[in-house]
Amino acid sequence: MKFGGTSMAGTERIRRVARIVQRQQAAGHEVAVVVSAMAGETDRLVNFCREANTLYDPAEYDVVVASGEQVTSGLLALTLQALGCKARSWLGWQLPIHTSDAHAKARILEIDSAALIAAMQGGEIAVIPGFQGLSEHNRITTLGRGGSDTSAVAVAAALKADRCDIYTDVDGVYTTDPRIVAKARKLARVTYEEMLELASVGSKVLQTRSVSLAMKEGVRVQVLSSFIDDDAPPADSLPGTMIVSDAELEGQEMERQLITGIAADKNEAKVTLTRVPDQPGAVAAIFGPLAAAQINVDMIIQNIAKDKGETDVTFTVPSSDLARTQALLEAQKDTIGYFRMISDSHVAKISVVGVGMRSHAGVAATMFKALADRRINIQAISTSEIKVSVLIDEDETELAVRVLHTAYGLDGE
Ligand code: ADP
Ligand code: ASP
Ligand code: MG
Repeated sequence: MKFGGTSMAGTERIRRVARIVQRQQAAGHEVAVVVSAMAGETDRLVNFCREANTLYDPAEYDVVVASGEQVTSGLLALTLQALGCKARSWLGWQLPIHTSDAHAKARILEIDSAALIAAMQGGEIAVIPGFQGLSEHNRITTLGRGGSDTSAVAVAAALKADRCDIYTDVDGVYTTDPRIVAKARKLARVTYEEMLELASVGSKVLQTRSVSLAMKEGVRVQVLSSFIDDDAPPADSLPGTMIVSDAELEGQEMERQLITGIAADKNEAKVTLTRVPDQPGAVAAIFGPLAAAQINVDMIIQNIAKDKGETDVTFTVPSSDLARTQALLEAQKDTIGYFRMISDSHVAKISVVGVGMRSHAGVAATMFKALADRRINIQAISTSEIKVSVLIDEDETELAVRVLHTAYGLDGE
């Protein structure tokens, strides 16, 4: 069971979490619980690091930001004990949860679960702070923002758990963010692949890496709400959204929609280089330095050269990397041979995702028409097998999501 920040924000909410956990144990389950820091706490700690030293050392940053989860894991163990349950906390270094050395974005390598399993078999509830691990150099690491989801899936895989229930502040995965579109519908099931695409294009309900890990390890994941009242039915009735394999969804094709969901991401920036020489090596000269600097390029468009043997190249990078991108390309101006660099961080990427589009034509056309009808201009397009994304003006994000939600027939009550 994993509980997110909103679910852990304060004594009363932690008590509610403890009761949900207690009910699962009373139903005969052995339970391990992964917790997030209280809502807002990680942001507060990140700010302290920035104030202390703008060029902060990521290893010390991890020491600071991992502390939020230490607090909530101890508090949940205390609260469970107050309810008469046997419970203890297991910090990342105590298990340990071995990770890579990449501070602030570490990857889980392995979890020693022997001690956990022994404690759980003795009837003790294990409480594990999410987001944190231990590096090969014996230092505390964190897994990137939203990383407690990944901790939970990794613990579930290590324990060979029957299920990994991710409790959050919405009661499942919706066709789009229910806080933006009131008519969003809850999905009973979504495939790993679709969830992976949705998470990677901006649905922050699950951290992307938690989904790829669940897919790789075959962990059964359910997303559900922790804001349930005391006599709500036990989670055995699967009230939330199940993340399932393609095979599991077979036979239920009838209920399947062409489009599963729509996501928006405002954290992209667009860069255009004009009059790049149209010759072998030109594009490599642009993207080589960005790759070396670990900057993730997303959409790329290169126009056909017209007459002069020159062409424009447009691409997107995360907004947080825009300044570095500009500096790198400025430094390479003569090598690349472009004329002007134009950038814009006031853009948003809107994506429609669904495995149904593998076998259906016209998904992209529907998208373009719906946006055109509202006079929303498309600045860039990219596609994958199960996704179409467009880049638009950031001010039109909410409108675009709502219009597309209707255009694909996803609106609920
Ligand atoms: P937690 O603190 O529990 O980890 P998050 O804030 O990380 O919670 O994720 C839950 C939030 O994800 C919801 O409050 C919702 O606004 C947002 N969200 C974005 N897209 C979706 C979606 N398709 N379905 C459900 N929630 C979504
Ligand atoms: N507390 C961390 C964050 O806010 C990890 C998490 O909650 O998943 O990013
Ligand atoms: Mg989260």
